[in-house]
Amino acid sequence: MEKIREVGKYDIVVVGGGIAGVSASIASARKGMKVCLIEKFCALGGLATLGNVCVYLPLCDGKGNQVIGGIAEELLKLSVSDGYRDIPQAWKEGGNIEERKKIRYKVEFNPVSFMLLLEELVLKEGIEIRYDSRVFDVIKEDDRIKEILILDKEGIGKISCKVIIDATGDADICFFAGEKVVSVDKNVACGWFFYYDGKDIKKYPFTLRFDSYNIKIEQGIKTFSGDKADDITNQVIESRKYILKKFFGIKEKKPSSYLLLVPTIPIFRMTRRLKGKTELKEKDEGKIFPDSVGMTGDWRKSGPVYYIPFSCLSAVKIKNLITAVRCISASTVRDVVRAIPVCALTGEISGTSASLLIKEKFESFSNLDIKKLQKILKEQGVIIK
Ligand SMILES: Cc1cc2nc3c(=O)[nH]c(=O)nc-3n(C[C@H](O)[C@H](O)[C@H](O)COP(=O)(O)OP(=O)(O)OC[C@H]3O[C@@H](n4cnc5c(N)ncnc54)[C@H](O)[C@@H]3O)c2cc1C
Repeated sequence: MEKIREVGKYDIVVVGGGIAGVSASIASARKGMKVCLIEKFCALGGLATLGNVCVYLPLCDGKGNQVIGGIAEELLKLSVSDGYRDIPQAWKEGGNIEERKKIRYKVEFNPVSFMLLLEELVLKEGIEIRYDSRVFDVIKEDDRIKEILILDKEGIGKISCKVIIDATGDADICFFAGEKVVSVDKNVACGWFFYYDGKDIKKYPFTLRFDSYNIKIEQGIKTFSGDKADDITNQVIESRKYILKKFFGIKEKKPSSYLLLVPTIPIFRMTRRLKGKTELKEKDEGKIFPDSVGMTGDWRKSGPVYYIPFSCLSAVKIKNLITAVRCISASTVRDVVRAIPVCALTGEISGTSASLLIKEKFESFSNLDIKKLQKILKEQGVIIK
């Protein structure tokens, strides 16, 4: 192979421009790090924008208490700053706990505006974005990632970094670096799409329609794995067939309807993840770990809270690798922690810890000063317990 082109040198490289990656980059840049955010598509937001997943699930526990703050709350507010929807009245300043028990702190947003607003914010923070660049391997030395390899329009390039944050959603970097990973092949064909509905146009500019095949898994419907090449193509094609079928069903009843936006990326709920030192499980509900660095409620029901241990984000073998959200080591509770607010939360944790590792010259994430990390996160507005 000819000499590989050198693309750049950074303190922190974040791979994946979804909500987790955006949050991780912002947290890193705010600590003075030189950050590169790498994204294979040409927009930020990942599933939340290009996948049309436009419900920012709750920052509260359903009992009136806010359990997620920091960058996750900042991004929730940003997502509705175009005026498409609003934050529930009860969660504005002056709202009391009784009102907050009745309505959860979540919003719907317009994915198109959110995508543009995220890009504007990331650039304002001084983060370098590299679009149309796919990370396809890493170069290691002494259990550290020294460089990552990207493929872009100019061919293969290498990027040096002190720390790498895997926000690919599919634990690509963990996989390339030889970490233990776990795959899930239970994804179904599904589609979130916007269509114009003439009748509702005065009330809402768009009407959102969502459906999925989930209920039919037991009836032998085909499921897909998000880390197998053939499955990715097949899932996308099946999902689009389904969207067309669904849409023409609607059009039959409402002839004034037209399709507006369909997902332009594969929409997998859960694919490959890290098998970390700790695996967060459903039975860990309410359990505070010595290395808890954040918490979340359960978007499916009111009441339960889960504390997130740092050791389910950090890689086991590779000293300078950390993950965020869908890549983190969570097993039975993965359906809870894959939600958009937890993406932002774990992104903030990974970016903040990466900066601490570099600034204070810790050898590895496994010997990071967790108490110090907890203190910094609290100062940033992250709710730890
Ligand atoms: C059908 C469906 C419905 C959902 N409903 C909701 C909901 O209502 N509310 C909610 O809060 N959550 C919902 N979720 C979950 C939530 O949308 C996602 O878990 C979340 O948006 C994932 O964010 P992320 O940043 O971890 O990953 P992603 O959004 O997947 O972002 C990862 C990014 O990394 C990039 N990337 C991947 N590999 C590479 C590589 N090798 N090189 C360069 N770039 C790479 C991808 O292009 C992508 O942009 C839903 C998910 C699905 C699939």
